[in-house]
Amino acid sequence: MLPAFSRSVLELIVRTSTDLPPDVRAAMRHALAAETAGSRSAQALTIIAQNIDQAVEGEGAICQDTGMPTFEIKVPVGANQIWMKARIREAIADATRQGQLRPNSVDSITGANSGNNLGPGTPIIHFEQWEKDAIEIRLLLKGGGCENMNAQYSLPTELPHLGRADRTLEGVRLCILHAVWQAQGKGCSPGAVGVCVGGDRTSGYLHAKEQLFRTIDDVNPDPRLAEVEASIMRSVNRLGVGTMGFGGGVSLIACKVGAINRLPASFFVSVAYDCWAYRRLGVTLDAGTGEITRWLYRDPTVPIVPMIDQEGFVRTGREIRLSTPLSDESVRSLHVGDVVLLSGPVYTGRDAVHAHLMKNPPPVDLRGAALYHCGPVVKKEGDAWRVTAAGPTTSIREEPYQAEILQRYGVKAVIGKGGMGPRTLKGLQENGAVYLNAVGGAAQFYARCIESVDGVSLLDFGTPEAMWHLTVREFPAIVTMDAHGGSLHRDIEAVSAHELAALGASR
Ligand code: SF4
Repeated sequence: MLPAFSRSVLELIVRTSTDLPPDVRAAMRHALAAETAGSRSAQALTIIAQNIDQAVEGEGAICQDTGMPTFEIKVPVGANQIWMKARIREAIADATRQGQLRPNSVDSITGANSGNNLGPGTPIIHFEQWEKDAIEIRLLLKGGGCENMNAQYSLPTELPHLGRADRTLEGVRLCILHAVWQAQGKGCSPGAVGVCVGGDRTSGYLHAKEQLFRTIDDVNPDPRLAEVEASIMRSVNRLGVGTMGFGGGVSLIACKVGAINRLPASFFVSVAYDCWAYRRLGVTLDAGTGEITRWLYRDPTVPIVPMIDQEGFVRTGREIRLSTPLSDESVRSLHVGDVVLLSGPVYTGRDAVHAHLMKNPPPVDLRGAALYHCGPVVKKEGDAWRVTAAGPTTSIREEPYQAEILQRYGVKAVIGKGGMGPRTLKGLQENGAVYLNAVGGAAQFYARCIESVDGVSLLDFGTPEAMWHLTVREFPAIVTMDAHGGSLHRDIEAVSAHELAALGASR
C-alpha cells in the first residue's frame, strides 16, 4: 500500500519547517527594502532574513515553535484515510525524533509533554474526497504566539478606537484593522491574516485558517472580497506597528478573506493571524505509490535565492556590550531604544519555570541573571546537549509572575518578545531591571549566538519548558522596557491607536 507515502509526508514536514515558501520570502524581501536602513524594524528584518537563509541551508527549524501541524488532504474516492492518518502520525513522531519539530504537544490539564507531538487533537488532519486520481496534502505550521493573536468578532460591535462595526463589508474591514492593531508585535509581525466572514464560531475560525493556504498574490475570485483584501493592504501599514512591534512601515504582508453562510442571527468575523514565519507547503502524490509528483507553492527546479547577502548582526556602532551577571549600574544606564549585545550565562524559563518559581526557590542563583523566555529545540548528542533552534517566546504570558520573580530572586534582565504589561514595567523600575526584546522566530540566528549548553534544570517539565543553562555571545536585543518606566510597547500602541482611529474615520 503506497510504499513511498510515509517518506513523502516526512519530506513535506521537514521542508515546511525549514524552507519558507517563495511568495512569503518575496513579501519579506519587500518588507526589508521598505524599512529605513538602520531603523529598529530594519535591524530586526535583517536578522529575520539571515534566519530564513540559515534555516534552509542547515535544514533547521525556521522557528523554535514548530507550530501546530495542520494537514488539509484531498484523496480519491475509496482511499484508506485510517491508514494514511496513522502514517502521518508516525511521520510527525519521526520528524520530532530527528529534531525537526520541537515536542510541542502537551496535556491540557497536567501540562505533561507527550514528547512526540502526538496526542488528542495533535496533529490536526482534515480529509476531503475529490474526483481525481491523486492525493494532495497541504501543511500549515502555525505557532502559539500568532495563534494567541487570533480574534473573533460578533457584529454589530463597538471596537476600541474605531467605533461601531456594522454587519457590512465596511464592518468586516474595521474588524481586520482592529485585529492587526491589537496583535502589535506579539504575533511576530509583519504578519498575515486569514479571515472568514460568517459561519459559526467553529467553522468561522476553520475557514479563516484555510485562507492562509492561499498564496499571497492570489486574487480573490469574489470581487467584493477582493476589494476588502486590497483595501486592507492599501491602508493597514499606516498603523506603524512594524516588525516585532518596534514601529515601522510594514505590519502586514497578506490579507486573505473568505465567506461562508451564517445563521441570520449571527455575523461572525474570524481572523487567523499568522506570523512572518508563515510556513505552508504542499505536495501532490501518486495515488498508487505515494511518491511526490509535484510540489505546491515551490518549484524545486528553481534555485533558492538567498534573502540577504550578509552574516551576523548589522552594527551601527551604537550597540552596548553587556556581560552577565549584570550589575545594577549597567542596567540602570540602559534606556528604551538601546541595542545591546549580551554575552555570558543566560537561563531559559517560560510558563512552567515561572509557575515553579512562584512556589519554589530557583535551581540556580539568579542574582544579576538574564532570564530568557525561550523554549529551545535541543538535541542530545552523546552526553552533551546541542541547541538547534532558540528564538524568544511571547513574554506577556509571564505577566502575572514576572515582577515577583524579579523582586524575589534579583533577575536583572528579562529577554523575550512582544513586550510585557504595566505590572512588569513597575517591577523593572522597582528592581532596577530591563526587558530586552529579541527578534521572534529567529531561532537559527539565536542558536548560533549560543556558545555552549552548560546544564539543565527542571528537565521533567519537558525540553521546551526546562531551565537551560546557556552561555551566549553577542546576543543582540533591543531595550524596549527600561528601569526608568519607559516602554516602547506602550508608546507604539498609543501612536498606532491614533493611526487606527484615523483609518476608521477615513471610511
Ligand atoms: S515566529 Fe513568533 S509567532 Fe511565529 S511561530 Fe515563531 S515565535 Fe511563534
